[in-house]
Amino acid sequence: MRGRRDRLEAALTAGELERMLVTDLTNVRYLTGFTGTNGACVCGPGLRLFFTDFRYTERAAAEVEGWEPITVEGDWLGAIAERLEGRVGFEDDQMAVRTLEKLKEKLGEGVEAVPAGGTVERLRRVKDAEELAAIEAASKIADEVWEWSVERGFAGRTEREVARAAEARIRELGGDPSFPAIVAAGPNGALPHAEPGEREIGRGELIVFDMGAKLDGYCSDGTRTYATGDPGEGAREVYAVVLAAQLASLAAVKAGAKGEDVDAVARKLIDEAGYGKHFGHGLGHGVGLEVHEGPRLSPRSDDLLEPSEVVTVEPGIYLPGQLGVRIEDFVVVAENGYRNLSSLPKELQLVE
Ligand code: ZN
Ligand code: ZN
Repeated sequence: MRGRRDRLEAALTAGELERMLVTDLTNVRYLTGFTGTNGACVCGPGLRLFFTDFRYTERAAAEVEGWEPITVEGDWLGAIAERLEGRVGFEDDQMAVRTLEKLKEKLGEGVEAVPAGGTVERLRRVKDAEELAAIEAASKIADEVWEWSVERGFAGRTEREVARAAEARIRELGGDPSFPAIVAAGPNGALPHAEPGEREIGRGELIVFDMGAKLDGYCSDGTRTYATGDPGEGAREVYAVVLAAQLASLAAVKAGAKGEDVDAVARKLIDEAGYGKHFGHGLGHGVGLEVHEGPRLSPRSDDLLEPSEVVTVEPGIYLPGQLGVRIEDFVVVAENGYRNLSSLPKELQLVE
């Protein structure tokens, strides 16, 4: 974690800030290792302060290393404000307006609060070895659960049964679901974020099955689309288009590639096949402590990929009232390409 706080300090210097106040709990966890629900930290040149309250003093002692621990009794913002000086970056994309107003009231003379949201998120994009190990292990759990689910079959069970069983299986294997699993069969597949319902899965349907496991705080994310028996010519064609788009855009992933350009590879193929307006979301996103984080692969993303970033590549086609297909892999960006963390086959699998 030392590298993380040193990188933050370097980012402060680059942004001409004397201090950075980190209040977003995911960012606090990233920097300090603290997993409790009340904590904040202040970083500056040679300065590492970690604030929590009495409920978490012991946990902080066990988890937080390299930060001076401060247990605040009473005025939380006042205690933090006391230790701020100069230009102080704060997370304007996270902090409540009311909290900011109160904080400003408590700042000493000459102390200025400067919007610096996204600073820690930017650091979080590139994963270190420890993070990659957790992500890879989470991904293995999820892959095992897809295989387990396929063996149990889909037809005759409800979407909700399949989803809940998969989540329970993730827990049995030592993880937690990184988000509620999406199991969307037949026409429900056309809703990219469908909630699994009580509808019984029939034969000859496509099933969009999107899930992830979480291990040591780190998430995985992937999607496979299965068929319960022959789904018909039209569905096969849509599947083939999505698969071609997925493979082509995956091949465009490498360090230095721009988010919008990788997205465009998939979008162009889907467009040319006549399904352009049915691919309504971005191609992919970063994954780490959160399921959705930077960088973005989308038509509006000028993010440049860097080695050891972890991103999804997930084109989809959604035909309202009919079906949906999404194929999502989860990869580590490398200098000349990527390492795929998804080990599952991508050809359309017919499952009972
Ligand atoms: Zn995703
Ligand atoms: Zn997903």
